[in-house]
Amino acid sequence: MEPLLQVENLQINFHTYAGTIQAVRGLDLSLYPKDVLVVVGESGCGKTVMSKSILRLLPKKITKIPDTSKILFEGSDLLRLKEKDLRKVRGRDISMIFQDPMTYLNPTMTIGEQIAESLMIHEKLSKKQAMEKSIDILELVRIPNPKERIRQFPHEFSGGMRQRVVIAIALACSPKVLIADEPTTALDVTIQADIMDLLLDLREKLNMSIILITHDLGLAAEIATKIHVMYAGKVVEKATAKDLFNRPAHPYTRALLQSVPDVAGLSKSRLYSLKGQPPDLLNPPKGCGFMNRCALAMNVCAKHEPPLYSLSKDHSYRCWLGHPLGENNNSEER
Ligand code: SF4
Repeated sequence: MEPLLQVENLQINFHTYAGTIQAVRGLDLSLYPKDVLVVVGESGCGKTVMSKSILRLLPKKITKIPDTSKILFEGSDLLRLKEKDLRKVRGRDISMIFQDPMTYLNPTMTIGEQIAESLMIHEKLSKKQAMEKSIDILELVRIPNPKERIRQFPHEFSGGMRQRVVIAIALACSPKVLIADEPTTALDVTIQADIMDLLLDLREKLNMSIILITHDLGLAAEIATKIHVMYAGKVVEKATAKDLFNRPAHPYTRALLQSVPDVAGLSKSRLYSLKGQPPDLLNPPKGCGFMNRCALAMNVCAKHEPPLYSLSKDHSYRCWLGHPLGENNNSEER
């Protein structure tokens, strides 16, 4: 099966007064139909930058992406599409939802008008037709009394309902790919579960693939078909949810898993806290980016960037531990 979306060797640099920040450093991913790809990692690891680059939503003036990077969608490289062609992809084929619904919704327009806008642009519907379809879409995202609700403004909705409206706008044209960047972070836990349940239900109904950006490993375990762990601008481990939770291979992944609280309270051991800071991406290290925090670091780790090593078709990690070439290189002086 061909991937729906394929990211190849993505490198994203930001030119700032302080120097060039290497925010994403050679990232590959493949998204297949109906995949739920969850990208996890701590703040600043590059996951949001990566997701915004797919629809070219990064600030143009300071962003530099080399010609060797590609984001392929249905045969086109999104990084090189003309702006007018990219506008057809945004919202119609690939949609994005963000963390805070209030920054996305227009407070001066009714909910119905905001959903209808996208339908009028992409599906060339009249305003009347688009408003009628908006009612169906509100129903799809489980908003009660949609006929009345389309006439209301964002401030008349609760936080959870606003996030449903944002999802409704994103799904108005039945996109093939939905990118959701921490879509539930600002919501209560019960509403979070509700929203994720809704997204999975819509994925089935609309036959859609999802890229979910989160730092919530519990959520990732529940919904992911595959997980990418990011650290310092790179994917350091890729696996199915089952493999990642049962057999984490990268020391950073293991540290992340040990820092998740046991909600049932069965574990008596203290939560692990990872000491130190991620490397400065203005001047990333020559070898492994995790080295200054890794208790298992070896000589080779300082000198050479570990390549991605495959444990199986669906499981790979970027670390010299267990890598056949790691031991040969390890005798070198640090
Ligand atoms: Fe630790 Fe070395 Fe593996 Fe990096 S490559 S995670 S420093 S053991």
